[in-house]
Amino acid sequence: MTADSQGFSTRAIHAGQPADPTTGAVVTPIYATSTYLQDGVGRMRGGYEYSRTKNPTRRALEECLAALEEGRHGFAFASGLAAEDTLLRAVCAPGDHVVIPDDAYGGTFRLFDKVASRWGLDYTPAKISDVAAVRAAVTPRTRIVWVETPTNPLLGIADIAALAQLAHDAGALLVVDNTFASPYLQQPLVLGADVVVHSTTKYLGGHSDVVGGALVVDDDSLADELAFHSNSMGAISGPFDAWLTLRGAKTLAVRMERHCDNAERIVEWLGGRDEISHILYPGLETHSGHEVAAKQMRRFGGMVSFRMRAGEEAAVAVCDRAELFTLGESLGGVESLIEHPGRMTHASAAGSPLEVPGDLVRLSVGIEDVEDLIADLARAFGG
Ligand SMILES: *Cc1c(COP(=O)(O)O)cnc(C)c1O
Repeated sequence: MTADSQGFSTRAIHAGQPADPTTGAVVTPIYATSTYLQDGVGRMRGGYEYSRTKNPTRRALEECLAALEEGRHGFAFASGLAAEDTLLRAVCAPGDHVVIPDDAYGGTFRLFDKVASRWGLDYTPAKISDVAAVRAAVTPRTRIVWVETPTNPLLGIADIAALAQLAHDAGALLVVDNTFASPYLQQPLVLGADVVVHSTTKYLGGHSDVVGGALVVDDDSLADELAFHSNSMGAISGPFDAWLTLRGAKTLAVRMERHCDNAERIVEWLGGRDEISHILYPGLETHSGHEVAAKQMRRFGGMVSFRMRAGEEAAVAVCDRAELFTLGESLGGVESLIEHPGRMTHASAAGSPLEVPGDLVRLSVGIEDVEDLIADLARAFGG
């Protein structure tokens, strides 16, 4: 049986992780070493010479992530943003242009707006759920069409297959930040994307105990560029972080099923609350991206946003009153989190085209007992 024909969880548990050849250890060890014995000058023993370039624990994670995304090459970084930065430098040059989502992750926006722009890269925010709007934003200099789907925090849906076609027609790459969906719910490379980006800090790690990022690609020459830049820039995942992420990834499928079950129940409950003006969840048939999401995702995920009819102070109050839903940034862990994007994760987008509504609340629905989560929200809503 080849790895390609194995099911998702089998790959999560085994891909890149054969028993350790030296000791038979079933779990990939944390190779806490910077350097490796050489058998003679220039003769590496196991293909490793220095851990910035390659490390066996990181390698195991990279192979596992590639298998989960059905790509041929994976790269693990110190954070999602380190992965993004490495990608930009590997594929872009001064004068190039990038199309980004008009509700991109705040840190991604900041990377383009405050860092990459200084190095001669310019960007246009576009409504990526609207293929025509993306097409209108593309210029002859566009090198990347950058997409998140679902988007953060507004849960917009981009049609990956349609945008891959559009990007390729324009001579650009389609990059998909797959952090919100995770490879269990959506596999962008299979739909035609060129690069998948992850903040493995979120669902892949899944336990809010490690920060990391990843890139997965299929194309060999693009992989060579990424390997070169990863080694030259050095923003790699350390072995302990890689090990924690790999440990988390093994249970991704069962966690995601439960995240989805709980999110669906909470969406149903929110639907009966008068305090709310909008529920943003792609699983709702009334969601504008529902049809595309149903076509390209296995289920609709664990992220739910909603808007409070009474405005910003009411949204802040719900966040402050929740207890079991921990008030905090980040997402994708086993524990439920609540946050106010306008003043927290997306504060850096204030005053920009990416500013988010003040009445918005974002939930990362965890895998606790859903009755307890609903009771906590009921309390936070004031009864
Ligand atoms: C968190 C996040 C990132 C950035 O990842 P870090 O690991 O925090 O650097 C990028 N994209 C999305 C969608 C995220 O949620």
